[in-house]
Parts: sequence; C-alpha cells; structure tokens
Amino acid sequence: MSDMKEFHGRGVYDAAAVGKVFLLKHKKTQVRRTHVDDIKREIKRFEQAKALSISQLDEIYKRTIEEVGSEDAGIFEIHMMLLDDEDYNEYISDVLSKGFNAEYAVALASDYFCELFAAMDDDYMSERSADIKDVSERVIANLKGAAQGEGLNEPSIVCADDLSPSETAELDREMVLAFVTAHGSVNSHTAILARSMNVPAIVGVGDAFLSSLSNGSICAVDGGSGDVIVNPDEGTLEKFNQRLSADKQELIRLDELRGKENITLDGRSIEICVNVNGESEIGAAAECDASGVGLFRSEFLYLEGESYPSEDRQFDAYKRVLESMNGKRVVIRTLDIGADKSADYFELKKEENPALGLRAIRICLTRPEIFKTQIRALYRASIYGRLAIMFPMISSVSEVEQALALCSEVKQELDECGVAYSKDVEIGIMIETPAAAVISDRLATMVDFFSVGTNDLTQYTLACDRQNPQLEQFCDTHHEAIIRLIEYSCQNIHDNGGWIGICGELATDLSLTEAFLKMGIDELSVSPPFVLRLRKRVRSLNLSR
Ligand code: PEP
Ligand code: MG
Repeated sequence: MSDMKEFHGRGVYDAAAVGKVFLLKHKKTQVRRTHVDDIKREIKRFEQAKALSISQLDEIYKRTIEEVGSEDAGIFEIHMMLLDDEDYNEYISDVLSKGFNAEYAVALASDYFCELFAAMDDDYMSERSADIKDVSERVIANLKGAAQGEGLNEPSIVCADDLSPSETAELDREMVLAFVTAHGSVNSHTAILARSMNVPAIVGVGDAFLSSLSNGSICAVDGGSGDVIVNPDEGTLEKFNQRLSADKQELIRLDELRGKENITLDGRSIEICVNVNGESEIGAAAECDASGVGLFRSEFLYLEGESYPSEDRQFDAYKRVLESMNGKRVVIRTLDIGADKSADYFELKKEENPALGLRAIRICLTRPEIFKTQIRALYRASIYGRLAIMFPMISSVSEVEQALALCSEVKQELDECGVAYSKDVEIGIMIETPAAAVISDRLATMVDFFSVGTNDLTQYTLACDRQNPQLEQFCDTHHEAIIRLIEYSCQNIHDNGGWIGICGELATDLSLTEAFLKMGIDELSVSPPFVLRLRKRVRSLNLSR
C-alpha cells in the first residue's frame, strides 16, 4: 500500500517540482534548562561544539577574504577570538560544573556578556555585544546539530515551519527546488524571494505536514494549486512529470520573445524592468532581457552579513550591478530594513507594530551615518553605469527634504576630496504609503521619478499586515482604493514631468497590465522569470479596443 499523503496550502509561485525533502531547522532554537548527570560529558559536548564553530568561522573568514576582501572578513576573526575569550569560557565552565546542560550554559553566558558589553561607554566594545550573541547562537545551534541550511548539498524541496528573508537569502539557491512552509503569508518577503528564484513555493500547509516528513522523504509540489504530496505514488509522479515538461515547453516559447519590444498591438510601449534582491540575483537580472533594473533591494547586502557592510563592500556591489546592466538604468533603493527584514546588529528595539515602526527611511534619517555611508558608496559607483537612487517608505515632504540634504552633503564631501561621481543620477521616491500618494502632487516637484510599492501600499491602505496569513481574505490587492491611489499619483507625476513605475508584486499581475497601461504607467518592474511573461501579455493587448 502506498504511504502517499496529500496536503494543501497557498501557492505563492506557480511552478512544479519533485524532489527529496530537506527539513530546515532554525538557527535560533529555544534553549531549555536541564540538569545533567554526566558533567564531564557535557563539558566535552561544549568543547566539541566550540571547536566546530571555530572551524566554521575560519572557513567563512577565508571565503569572505576571497570574495569580498579582508576588511569585511575581519569580523569573523573577532568572532573566533570571542569564542576563545577566557572570561567567557570560565563563565560557561562555572555553569556546567553546577550540572546544567551546555546549551543553557552558553545562553546564560551570552546574556551576561551581551549586557556587560552593551553597557560599556567605548563604542567599539559596546558593538561587540551583538557579536557575542551571534557566536553564542552558533555554538548553541551546533550543540543541537541545527546549523542553518547545513546539509543542504543536493537540490531539495526546502521545508520549514516558516522562513525569514535572511534565512531564505542565506540558502544556496542552486540547491533549492521548492519552498514549502507550514506557516507564513503569501505577501511576505520570503514569498517574493521564492518568486524571483523561479521555484515553486507554498505557504500555510500546516503543522501536520511537517510531522509527516523526515529528511529524505520525496515530495511533489504544485505552486499553482497549492498541493503538496508526500511520497507520491506512480500515477501522481507521472502527472507531475507531464506538468514539468509542459512548463519547459512554455519557457522555450517565451524565450522566442527575447530582443522583442514591449509594445501593444496598437503601438503603446512600456519599459519592463527587473527587481533584484541583493547581489546573488545580479546575474539572473542581467540575463532576463529587461529594460533595466527597476528595484535593487539594497537591504539584502545588510541582511546577508553579520555587521554593517562597509562603504567599499557596498561600492563593489553597486558597481557590479551597474556594469552588468551595460548602461541601462539601475534603480537602487536605499536601505529598507525593519519590520520583517531585520538584522540583529542594528539592535532595533522590539516594537508592538514593527510595520508601523522605525523602518526604512526612518532609520536612515535617525542614523544619518549609516545612510551617508550608503549614499557615498552609491555616488562613487555612479560613474560605472546609469544610476538612479530611490527612497523607500516616504510619507512626508520633510523626509524627502532631509534625504536630499544628506545626498547634497555627500556630494559636497566627494567634491572636496576630488572623488568622481555622475552628475546625472536620477532621484526617486517609492509610493508605499497612502500619504505619499495623496501628496504626490507636491512630491512630484521634488524628484525625477516614482515607483509604486504595491506590497506595502496595500498593507497600509487596507490596514492589513502583509505578514499575517489570517488577513489574506481581507487583503484585496485589486481594491478600488489602491487602483485609485496609483492612478491619482500617475496623473500628478505626469503633470509635473516625472515618470512612474510599479515595482511591487502587483506589477506581475497580468490581469491588471491593461489597466496600468491605460493609466499611463511608464514602467513595470518584476522578478526575472516574469519579464518575458509580461512582454507576452503587453504584446497581446490592444488598448484602442
Ligand atoms: C513594496 O512594498 O511593494 C516593495 C516593492 O517593497 P518591499 O516589498 O521590499 O517592501
Ligand atoms: Mg515596501
């Protein structure tokens, strides 16, 4: 008898896959306090986990020197030193000698030294607090045998209870055949990443799915219907194989549209650009035949590392994406950290409503040094292509004034040091809040272009947290209010001579392409797999009908 089991969730990206399951465990697993009888054995467990952590860090250190340079790699050297710190080790030995488990001893030492360092006046020392937390989490994960993504060394269906954007970004993309999560929302950044990776993804399958799995189970995933089949029988496998070959045929047909114009049957053309989630997607973006990059989510540079990316590190990444697009426009959005995209080293305070909290431009304006470092890197890179800079989460004229003033300061400093930069960098604003749409007539006089972030514009207009799966039935992405806000912004921006694009996920919604073209939207920016699909749609439309 077949042990096939069927589950159902919400499809995030319509593609199919069949493969082995990889059960992903989280780095930050909860630590329980237990008493152990064999203290010597517990000390040995700690020593082994510490040694493993040091060898992992050493490997990352060497790889980072090769890929990025020694300045950025230095942090991993510090992490190795912290693990060998005498006081830290003594503290752990003390807790172990009282008969507690090693995970608890490390967690306790982590809390104690984090607080101690955070309270120090010296900036350098207080910054080490986040490092202590980080290395301690690594040791705990190694004690539990739960290092992030470790063991993912063949193409697999990655299954987890939920995934954060940074966890998703850390995975080796070549090894991901599909994502299936027990929880999670279709509007999350993780869902966006899955779409851009061109792999099927299903969220909200439920806990029973996870308990039915073991590493090595086979799964068939249909990201369109939301069906996940564990240990599929032969008939099911046959159906999936047919689907996979039909998908391949469609890709071949789409490929014939390469090099063709994005033009409707009655002659209206539009730019179709590509969204890029950090450096790892630069290659895919350059190859998808887009008119340019409509959104480079720069925060992924911050999410992928363990500390702030230096100016040089950022400069290299921006230069790379500009060069790879060969003179086509590249819109780089300044840091949009906060809410679900968080990095520990920012040490953001816990908030009741993080989506309505300190995020994106608000962090940049309250921590201008972080912002200026990024702006400097951007202007320095601007001579390598056609750069446009875009500010996220704008809700007032004054925020734009402050951001522009900081850009002017940076340019003046570069002038004083004789550093070259392009004088033609366009500046733009994201329309992600209803406030920005409503005052778009005023904002339109301040900058060159706009791009509508429909993911956030939807959550803020409809008061629906995009991370909350319970709200999906209330979150009507075609809501009249959203369409009207986009249309109103479009008129205001065109009246002032600017251009407007859409870079939120609604740009991929082929049922709205005609409406966007009729409104006069100038550009649609989508993840790489959607560029040719959107071109096909545009070329099938006749707006005069
Ligand atoms: C948006 O909000 O639509 C957007 C493009 O930004 P992000 O999804 O990164 O918040
Ligand atoms: Mg947004």
